[in-house]
Amino acid sequence: MTDYPHLLAPLDLGFTTLPNRVLMGSMHTGLEERGDWNRVAEYYAARARGGAGLIVTGGIAPNPEGAVFPGAAAMMTAQDVANHQIVTGRVHAEGGKIAMQILHAGRYAYGKDCVSASAIKSPISPFPPRELDEAGIEKQIADFAAAAARAREAGYDGVEIMGSEGYFLNQFLVTRTNQRSDRWGGSYENRMRLPVEVVRRVRETVGADFILIYRLSMIDLVPEGSTFDEVEQLARAVEAAGATVINTGIGWHEARVPTIATSVPRAAFAWVTKKLMGKVGVPLITSNRINTPEVAESLLAGGAADMVSMARPFLADPDFVAKAKAGRASEIAPCIACNQACLDHTFAGKISSCLVNPRACHETEIVLTPAETARRIAVVGAGPAGLAAAITAAERGHHVTLFDKSARVGGQLHLAATIPGKEEFRGLIDWFETMVALRQVETCLGVDAGVNDLTGFDAVIVATGVTPRDPGIPVDAGARVLSYVDVLKGAPVGDRIAIVGAGGIGFDVAEFLTHTGESPTENLDHWKAEWGVGDPAQSRGGLAAPHPAPSPRKVTLLQRKTGAPGKGLGKTTGWIHRASLRAKGVETLAGVAYERIDREGLHVTTADGPRLVEADTVVLCTGQESARDLADALTQAGVEVHVIGGADVAAELDAKRAIDQGVRLAATL
Ligand code: NAP
Ligand code: SF4
Repeated sequence: MTDYPHLLAPLDLGFTTLPNRVLMGSMHTGLEERGDWNRVAEYYAARARGGAGLIVTGGIAPNPEGAVFPGAAAMMTAQDVANHQIVTGRVHAEGGKIAMQILHAGRYAYGKDCVSASAIKSPISPFPPRELDEAGIEKQIADFAAAAARAREAGYDGVEIMGSEGYFLNQFLVTRTNQRSDRWGGSYENRMRLPVEVVRRVRETVGADFILIYRLSMIDLVPEGSTFDEVEQLARAVEAAGATVINTGIGWHEARVPTIATSVPRAAFAWVTKKLMGKVGVPLITSNRINTPEVAESLLAGGAADMVSMARPFLADPDFVAKAKAGRASEIAPCIACNQACLDHTFAGKISSCLVNPRACHETEIVLTPAETARRIAVVGAGPAGLAAAITAAERGHHVTLFDKSARVGGQLHLAATIPGKEEFRGLIDWFETMVALRQVETCLGVDAGVNDLTGFDAVIVATGVTPRDPGIPVDAGARVLSYVDVLKGAPVGDRIAIVGAGGIGFDVAEFLTHTGESPTENLDHWKAEWGVGDPAQSRGGLAAPHPAPSPRKVTLLQRKTGAPGKGLGKTTGWIHRASLRAKGVETLAGVAYERIDREGLHVTTADGPRLVEADTVVLCTGQESARDLADALTQAGVEVHVIGGADVAAELDAKRAIDQGVRLAATL
């Protein structure tokens, strides 16, 4: 008997049956562009081995004008077919099924040759698209069909036609981007002609026994987006045109509502898919912020969808389904929806990975083999770096002892978990605890390990982390100055706060201090009200007026740099943090020099002269310094020492670098 009867039930598509209700959703990883098809194949094969019911590849362009960026992966030539055969062959050898996503970016294509319904530039692209004429539209349809035919030739089990997130097909659907007056524009019937025709021609080309998923934007979250009546009309039309399954798309890329970030509540948009249940005959897939088998099971049991799509969770743990099936769900490495190693890498032109699982997309590079000789290894510091090193070394067969001054493992992850919108960090701490026990890592918690405790080990990994930096601002007697650690651990603060330092932690502390009561991330209705998410049946695109809860405090966030505060935050999430603090009335001041702190507040000099930032509490978020005294003492004592994480380099330390360094070191010991 399984805990997940709905999730693990097969899905009969008529000509083929999927073994369970889990779709590994499409994700761009950057692997396809590197030309190492063995690496691409191993990445997908690992997910097939791990039990994904159906895998969808990252977006593959049908033609150059539709490619997300010049040179992005495409399905246009016999060589492309041969490359993809390596992938499908390896996935099938693992017993998996895989569909290729055909992604035409339209005006989101990062290049001057981009095309769309009308010549209207996207706010997130510098390139105005060329308006397609009748022949140009026919070429796009033919290219979709040809790409699908080649996908079949390459051995894929199906294709997913990307019709959402504001890409090409979505651009024809709404007047925001389609102002044509020919048969491809004007009435909704005309505007939906292109997506429906693409589905019809693809079906005609590939035959009846080939999976055709249509990813349909069910809530656009942009002005002049679709109404739900239009969504329904389109769903019925793509079903009639030959879609086997309809997948859910949420929000255009240019939407100003977060849709997948960690601060978005789990399964925040499943209600949108549910509105379409019963309106079409084909199975529906729901998506976005689903990251545990429990959540997925409850959605299916509650009738929200027939199948669940998870994308990033398969980076975090390729064995998601296999572990759920085996009753080992607590061992699933959780995707915390941070985007730090996946989407942020994509936008930086780097290969995706995962903060929690650095082996993601690096399966052929970081290989964990059993240790030739089992050694006695001490790890000092049970933050992310130390934990990752400890469980990886133990997995390889070493005898690992983990020391930490605290009574619980997790280190600074506990601070992150206190921030409203970062609750997912709790799951990461729980997972580390589970894995420490499972790998039989001996724990010595509440112990401040010194050299004498450590000389008996074959090697010591020092992961002692960081200490907050004291910026040395003169402080008058009676002024209240706290570090971020004090504040996040619950030290009382006043009503007017000055935060010194506007890095990731300064922003987090501002978020912490401008919220009160339940986090909106844990209350879907509050979250929807904060960001202005309404019902697409009531308002176009599902947009409503945002009503952020007022901040209980007046907060000012300062930095010495002259640029805009928050510039260094994650590419795909920084805008969310900035928008959130703006909505809470946080004042930001850049280009300041700190003079002194007294009872009145923080005295600074700005380009306009001296200024007092009135504050009853000043919080220091001025970066960190490495805590490496132990490492130096051990080296002097002649012990084999490896220093990782913040103890190694404090600057720009985050959990991504810490875990990556821990795993990579442990892979070599
Ligand atoms: P950080 O991003 O390096 O920011 C430190 C801040 O302190 C900077 O704004 C810096 O700006 C200021 N500062 C540095 N030295 C100072 C001094 N002597 N006097 C006064 N101000 C000083 O470090 P962090 O905020 O501590 O974050 C640590 C790491 O965690 C970073 O890599 C960060 O990206 C990551 N993190 C990320 C997130 C996220 O949301 N993705 C959240 C939390 C943490 P000025 O020099 O301009 O004043
Ligand atoms: Fe999830 Fe973060 Fe890993 Fe991306 S990097 S898959 S968001 S945990």
